[in-house]
Amino acid sequence: MSQIETKCYDVIVVGGGGAGLRAACELAQAGLDVVVVSKVFPTRSHTVSAQGGINAALANYGDDKWQWHMYDTVMGSDFLGDQDAIEFMCKEAPKSIIELEHMGLPFSRNEDGTIYQRAFGGQTLNNGGDLAHRTCCAQDRTGHAMLHTLYQKNVSTNTQFLNEWFVIDLVVDASGQVAGVSAIEMVTGRLYYLQAPATVLATGGGGQIFQSSTNAAICTGDGMAMVNRHNFGLQDMEMWQFHPSGLYGTGILISEGTRGEGGYLLNSEGERYMERYAPHLKDLSCRDVVARCSMTEIREGRGCGPDKDHVLLKLDHLDLKVFNEKLPGITEISMTYKDIDPRKAPIPVVPTCHYAMGGIPTNFYGQVISHNDQVKNHIVPGLFAIGECANVSVHGANRLGANSLLDLVVLGKSCGQFIHKNFSNFPTPNPGKDDIDRAFRRCIALQGKKKGEHHVALSRKMKQIMQEDFGVFRDGSAMESGLKKLVDVRQASHDLMVHDQSQTFNTELYNALEFQNLIEVAFATAVSAKTRQESRGAHSRVDFPDRDDKSWLKHIIVDQSGKTFFRSVNMKPTFTKPIKVKAREH
Ligand SMILES: Cc1cc2nc3c(=O)[nH]c(=O)nc-3n(C[C@H](O)[C@H](O)[C@H](O)COP(=O)(O)OP(=O)(O)OC[C@H]3O[C@@H](n4cnc5c(N)ncnc54)[C@H](O)[C@@H]3O)c2cc1C
Repeated sequence: MSQIETKCYDVIVVGGGGAGLRAACELAQAGLDVVVVSKVFPTRSHTVSAQGGINAALANYGDDKWQWHMYDTVMGSDFLGDQDAIEFMCKEAPKSIIELEHMGLPFSRNEDGTIYQRAFGGQTLNNGGDLAHRTCCAQDRTGHAMLHTLYQKNVSTNTQFLNEWFVIDLVVDASGQVAGVSAIEMVTGRLYYLQAPATVLATGGGGQIFQSSTNAAICTGDGMAMVNRHNFGLQDMEMWQFHPSGLYGTGILISEGTRGEGGYLLNSEGERYMERYAPHLKDLSCRDVVARCSMTEIREGRGCGPDKDHVLLKLDHLDLKVFNEKLPGITEISMTYKDIDPRKAPIPVVPTCHYAMGGIPTNFYGQVISHNDQVKNHIVPGLFAIGECANVSVHGANRLGANSLLDLVVLGKSCGQFIHKNFSNFPTPNPGKDDIDRAFRRCIALQGKKKGEHHVALSRKMKQIMQEDFGVFRDGSAMESGLKKLVDVRQASHDLMVHDQSQTFNTELYNALEFQNLIEVAFATAVSAKTRQESRGAHSRVDFPDRDDKSWLKHIIVDQSGKTFFRSVNMKPTFTKPIKVKAREH
């Protein structure tokens, strides 16, 4: 085995996106020795691409309440969200926005200087009433503004950074305590054991398991796979959000903010079809609903274009001021990638994989909760997870637009505060040599192999299986055969080789490691999707078209072997009455 150097910290945060940076500045400000490790420069993390905004009941447009925001979030989650966690997030939301404002985030403004708030999908006043204006934004570049603000805040709090370092796996000692991570410095290829009593995974989503995705190439589910490899269990992995408006042919996102500003969807007959499916919320219904309606239009032959395989997003009736002041980013995207000026013609769009509701099970302090054959609901010592890689669960079966950026800052902060408060009780890690070596084995095996499978061909197969058999509409027999094919790909993923043996920025090696992560995420997704015999939120089964609260109002946890377990949904908020289970209204 190559030489492994050790670096020690109080806290390691893996991931320099919104979640990781929010936790890190909280910790650094409290005087802890915190390092952020990121495989890309932090401001290139995927948070940068978030467009539409961040929700909070600031009431800048008349009355609004966090309780109404909570109602919409529970309703949007199709009741799979934990009500204690959702209450916490919605109640903390206004404070978090003001904190970001004070850090310097350049929010769009109203005439009176207050923060501009747009309408967004599934957001209502007074528990299902008129559309709410609750989404704070910085034009249609909110994630960009937020990430840069948080990065600058971390620079001012003296957070340490290991930029362009790739984390391979968790180091876990014999007692089950997480003792840090194994990592490679990408510019030199040198191996490091990064040691700390607390490790926070903030590694983002894994939308690259699908063929068509709004997620960047770096969204490869690395944190989820690391947790899975130690058999801690992943939760609600069947729940993937398909966004109604991925730019046709590219998958690039066209923000829901376009519909929030007055845009709407059309089929080939020029019909505004959402009026027929959802007369109340129309184009601003929850994303799972709008995506399914668009796919139904396409499947029933009312899709647009020569292949009738997409729908149109009409914006050309909006005032030019809206394009210039509120939607400059999507105007540029449409013109650059499709040569279509949305001020003059509609944009072709299609539902595209967008967001992982499932992930690493945690409480709302970010503590990871493991569940498998050996342990039930056990807090994993030394391990935390926040952001899109985690499942708290504040999004349940369907995330409301603009609730993810909120989740990052509210739960990132609360995780940071929890670690700071309890830090003196965390035991010093003391892993054995074998524990450390084990965390490098996968990487070293890849570099030493002379023959084997190549990740590019296998990755293509995986994406095709996921897109065809686990997409917007799912069916038992297709999933059965899809899972069988996926098991073969997973088996082959243990026998990869890389041609490039160089040490400097060996992207072939990192892509192979990422593929091994993706296939774990895809496998957990397929098993959970086949297990849930009902339709709820983003999980829509042709063979079980109805929601079945009696049998399936519960979280599914899947372990590394594909065994499933169940956890009840929390229905006990602390400060307000529980929201009773009922049919969703659109
Ligand atoms: C196009 C698009 C638009 C969106 N718009 C909105 C919106 O308007 N509002 C909203 O609320 N949500 C939006 N979302 C969702 C939201 O942006 C994401 O869920 C969120 O930004 C994820 O943040 P994160 O901090 O969890 O992860 P990310 O921002 O993805 O960061 C992950 C970090 O982990 C690091 N990392 C990962 N693996 C490793 C590894 N092995 N080693 C080292 N580092 C690693 C990466 O380098 C990166 O720094 C959007 C999503 C997309 C795709």
